[in-house]
Amino acid sequence: MRQHFGKRDWILLGVLAIIAIAIWGYTSFWQKESAEKAIVTLDGETYGTYDLKRDQTIEIKKDDSVCNVLCIQDGEIFMQDATCPDKLCEKQGKKSHDKETIVCLPNKVVVTVVSADTSGIDSVAN
Ligand SMILES: [Zn+2]
Repeated sequence: MRQHFGKRDWILLGVLAIIAIAIWGYTSFWQKESAEKAIVTLDGETYGTYDLKRDQTIEIKKDDSVCNVLCIQDGEIFMQDATCPDKLCEKQGKKSHDKETIVCLPNKVVVTVVSADTSGIDSVAN
């Protein structure tokens, strides 16, 4: 056991703490103020608009069969399931910030996160 926890370590800890607080403040700000809706487009046409404040699972259907399953949870969206071969949309993970997208190229599905004041679209689906 060596005692090497000196002044430099405390400075490092302080810097890390500041960064952690900054990230936390930044993400909670965006979750509250910015991301409001997810707009799903299929084949370039609007499929539906969904409220991010409501946890839900959306089955995106093409030709009467489900091609993508989008999940909204705690203000974040992620592709839970997809029929595409590459599964890249599932690997894109969770999105919650304004203008972020999840794209499924093989199925031509695009999900975009938008804030309420820039979209100007009322929640039509559900
Ligand atoms: Zn996909």
